[in-house]
Amino acid sequence: MVKKFAEPILVTKPLVASRDEIFSLFNDVIDSGWLTNMGKQHNLLEKEVADYLNIDNLSVFNNGTLALIVALKALNLPEGSEVITTPFTFAATTHAISWNGLKPIFADINKDTMTLSTDAIEKAITPNTSAILPVHVYGFPCEVEIIEKIAKKNNLKVIYDGAHSFSTKINNKSICEWGDITMLSFHSTKLFNSIEGGGLVYKDENIGRKIYELRNFGIKKFISEEDIKEGVKNKDIIKDIGINGKLNEFQSAWGRVVLKQVKKEQEKRQKVSDTYKKLLNNIKEITIPEMPKNTSNSMQYFPILVENNRDDLYDKLMKHNIYSRKYFYPLCSDFECYKNLPSAQAKNLLVSNEIANKVLCLPFYGELSKNECEAVKKISEIIKVSIL
Ligand SMILES: *Cc1c(COP(=O)(O)O)cnc(C)c1O
Repeated sequence: MVKKFAEPILVTKPLVASRDEIFSLFNDVIDSGWLTNMGKQHNLLEKEVADYLNIDNLSVFNNGTLALIVALKALNLPEGSEVITTPFTFAATTHAISWNGLKPIFADINKDTMTLSTDAIEKAITPNTSAILPVHVYGFPCEVEIIEKIAKKNNLKVIYDGAHSFSTKINNKSICEWGDITMLSFHSTKLFNSIEGGGLVYKDENIGRKIYELRNFGIKKFISEEDIKEGVKNKDIIKDIGINGKLNEFQSAWGRVVLKQVKKEQEKRQKVSDTYKKLLNNIKEITIPEMPKNTSNSMQYFPILVENNRDDLYDKLMKHNIYSRKYFYPLCSDFECYKNLPSAQAKNLLVSNEIANKVLCLPFYGELSKNECEAVKKISEIIKVSIL
């Protein structure tokens, strides 16, 4: 018998800012008297994250969900039109579509990468389809080149949910380079956090302006010739239905400090991942999904697929004080609010259902690499005895 952990081992542990650095920045914010509304810390965070990811355009938000809602809004999709998406994701992905008055259409996923199947996307396209919303789930990249071709051919917009793919790269290029817009989440459970927060990466300047304005109640910042012709001078004009998506100065400062720790955290997580792989690879009931070649992992989650009786393993781990997570089970297509959609039927989503019943995310954070991954070895041992 392997003894249970004295303290609970959770699935993740957020990066926290070092006290010296964060208190010094908090003092700056207090001295400045500027607490929110695109202040100094906010603007620096936007620049520093963009530099870190090597991308040109980023807007930060108070959370990823709101960012995704704004992304869909910024693309002016026809009211009530259809958006093709994956059921194997967090609730926020589907909800963002519905909050825009658009119709989510679920399509099945690939077995190996767990991302949207491009065949399933093509089959789901109708004359009412306006966009595709795929998810780089666990940081596994979607088939971005094929999706781009499908989108071009059918005149569709592509919005990626990149909540798990902060710093994922394909051939050394940020995954955020693909699609019209990519959403990032800076929630505490994510690799990089600003406590709560998120971002939108975009290419088109006009979409960027729209995002900026929608984030701030729709108040126009970029006055066009047309606006001037309409006699607009020295007053707020609002044309679009905006919202409040602004990230405040304290959280922006937090994000700036945490950003400096991300690289180190990823290196530690790499060790944790290597150790899990070494110890679990030869258990035939367990499959460890592999990242495609030429891709660098964002090190956000460590999912395994359990052949028989995943729930039993989950319970046994819990008894040892190890809190793994059934991400993503149940599927979004099984939620009360979506289960009656025609595309939500299990026969349309065979692979998604299979994966949702097998997947388990193991505890995964840098601190687990302490003492030559002692805790990881113990967790792996408990998994081994639980399964055999
Ligand atoms: C975390 C997450 C979100 C939502 O991000 P928040 O910043 O928590 O609002 C969206 N999609 C996926 C896949 C996520 O994991």
